Amino acid sequence: MKFSGFKVIKEALTGHKGWTPLWRDPEPQSDYDIVIVGGGGHGLATAFYLAKSFGQARIAVLEKGWLGSGNIGRNTTIIRSNYLLPGNEPFYEFSMKLWENLEQETNFNSMVSQRGIINLIHTDAQRDAYRRRGNAMRFAGADSVLLSREELREKVPFLNYDNARFPIKGGLMQPRAGTARHDGVAWGYARGADMRGVDIIQNCEVTGFKIERGKVLGVETSRGFIGAKKVGVAVAGSSSRVMSMAGMRLPIESHVLQAFVSEGLKPTIPGVITFGAGHFYISQSDKGGLVFGGDIDGYNSYAQRGNLPVIEDVLEGGMALMPMIGRARLLRGWGGVMDMSMDGSPIIDRTDIEGLYFNGGWCYGGFKATPASGYAFAHLLATDRPHDTAKAYRLDRFAKGYVIDERGAGAQPNLH
Ligand SMILES: Cc1cc2nc3c(=O)[nH]c(=O)nc-3n(C[C@H](O)[C@H](O)[C@H](O)COP(=O)(O)OP(=O)(O)OC[C@H]3O[C@@H](n4cnc5c(N)ncnc54)[C@H](O)[C@@H]3O)c2cc1C
Repeated sequence: MKFSGFKVIKEALTGHKGWTPLWRDPEPQSDYDIVIVGGGGHGLATAFYLAKSFGQARIAVLEKGWLGSGNIGRNTTIIRSNYLLPGNEPFYEFSMKLWENLEQETNFNSMVSQRGIINLIHTDAQRDAYRRRGNAMRFAGADSVLLSREELREKVPFLNYDNARFPIKGGLMQPRAGTARHDGVAWGYARGADMRGVDIIQNCEVTGFKIERGKVLGVETSRGFIGAKKVGVAVAGSSSRVMSMAGMRLPIESHVLQAFVSEGLKPTIPGVITFGAGHFYISQSDKGGLVFGGDIDGYNSYAQRGNLPVIEDVLEGGMALMPMIGRARLLRGWGGVMDMSMDGSPIIDRTDIEGLYFNGGWCYGGFKATPASGYAFAHLLATDRPHDTAKAYRLDRFAKGYVIDERGAGAQPNLH
């Protein structure tokens, strides 16, 4: 079934009887060429590009819950490519370019909206740092604009300019950044992969790996053994747990990150805004809810729920930035488990076990990476060579000292 304006009109006039499920619900086969563990954004995008761009067949995605139940359906939906370091910026810009064509490629409305992101500047030193970042972005082919205080005030007049604890001095803007409907991204990739023959198997938890003489032969699952020539693991917050079943210890810790949504309000916030003197980021959904978040909870956990002190901390950040937010009612909040790496950057690499590949360490920036991560992981699985933009994301960089520490926080996963 193809989606189009014509199809919507036809269904409206004929009682909506022609819609079909977005993907099949197949029984697992005894073996596949490639098995992807994890039906989040990254696993589904990998399967989609494997089938579409690399001509691979006989692929399965195994998901222990339902599609969208993990971080892909829990994030604050921000997409951007405003990175500084050469290991990161070309990769995230590649992702931005894939976002720009995603809906045409998957024939699905994932509500990609390039409404822009503004990182606020509160000190002269921060302006210098953001100017440098803006230049690095431009060198990698991305877009960036340094806004003066007056230019900023024209765009977002509702911030606290006149009596703020942390005076606002301007902003770094990426006009092409924005938001996308998070679970719609999972559904679009799932549908696109399914249309190309990928088996998406939900309620199928991987419980072990069959490894003989250093080579992976398949996975044990809650629905029986499934053989595979290659296995790609993309399980985000469950990375350490799943890879430990293959005898691997990762440079990754799991932490909870929370997100919040207010009651629906009239359109107020035109794009994404990040506070530069605390950790707070906010945008407004098309339904009207303010969508915002802040820091991770700061201790290791695999629970998909957060603690109260961090809620208070996030709301304090919001109040400092735009006091009017205190008038809005908080409607919902939830938590997701983040795969925090030691340098704050991800890993897309082969492992020492032949046929076993790993994708993880996304910290809390993996949503924007979904298209490039899927493409680069598919490239690696199909060709056994890293994609050009993901060459720096090696697993051995921690042992060799080639870390990609965007925040300069050192080997402290809870600080990245
Ligand atoms: C509150 C919050 C806000 C965020 N905000 C942003 C943002 O604004 N911008 C941004 O870029 N990023 C953001 N992120 C990060 C982003 O959501 C994640 O980095 C990204 O979604 C992780 O990749 P994924 O989609 O594949 O993960 P997931 O959706 O978590 O997919 C992993 C899947 O693996 C499955 N799985 C686990 N173990 C097994 C097993 N044994 N067998 C089978 N399946 C298994 C899980 O059920 C899950 O569905 C945010 C995250 C959270 C929680």
